[in-house]
Amino acid sequence: MPHIQAIGFDLFNTLLTIEPSALEDALERLIHSLNLSGITVGMESFKKAHMEAALRFINGTRIDGRETHNRFWISAALVSQGHEIGPDDSRIAEAVDAYFSAFMGRCRLIPGTIEMLRVLKGTYRLGLLSNFTHPPAMREIIDSLGLTPHFDVVLISGELGYRKPHPLVFRRLIEELCVHRDQMLYIGDDPEPDIVGPRQAGIRPVWFTYVRDKGVPSAPGIAGVMSEDPEGDVTRISEWSDLFSLLEKGF
Ligand SMILES: [Mg+2]
Repeated sequence: MPHIQAIGFDLFNTLLTIEPSALEDALERLIHSLNLSGITVGMESFKKAHMEAALRFINGTRIDGRETHNRFWISAALVSQGHEIGPDDSRIAEAVDAYFSAFMGRCRLIPGTIEMLRVLKGTYRLGLLSNFTHPPAMREIIDSLGLTPHFDVVLISGELGYRKPHPLVFRRLIEELCVHRDQMLYIGDDPEPDIVGPRQAGIRPVWFTYVRDKGVPSAPGIAGVMSEDPEGDVTRISEWSDLFSLLEKGF
């Protein structure tokens, strides 16, 4: 078995969790921002329209792997409510910022995460690869929690144009970490992006089930889409001490 030289990580529900209340608050901030901009929408009717649009666009990404952006969902929801406002309208950009402001201060590191990264950093090249539609917000989150300096590479689907499980994003991770695909692991919580994805790219996945095993309350993905349990044998770890055992055993 080739020696492991690099480790890739998912972000949400792998290194950190978001308080479940953040999603509701985010939507309310978004709607408040639209109303302040003079676009009058009803709270409940817009929430429903926004969720339908988000699901439609997120499901669309599963067909070709291309990432979407919240401005398209907001525009589509507004159009469905009789407001002909395009995705590049500045009022929508402001609403997107208002939406993501709800996540700041509501993200919590999984216990032991910084210590784990500190120990691994001397020995392995470390990469972060996350599905996130609005990269500036994700960079702000990882900066605020002190995660950024621990990574040699940070890749965000919203910058790559494609999202996990598409093989293109994993190939980028391999390239940027300067390793062969046999020399790395990818660790994440959500089976389709984090297990099916790396496997398709020839990378060994590790399923991280801390949040599920401990029953930690956490916001689901933005559109609430969670994939089914993985098929076949997959290495599963429940906390960071399990990862150290795994690496010591040489896999
Ligand atoms: Mg995740």
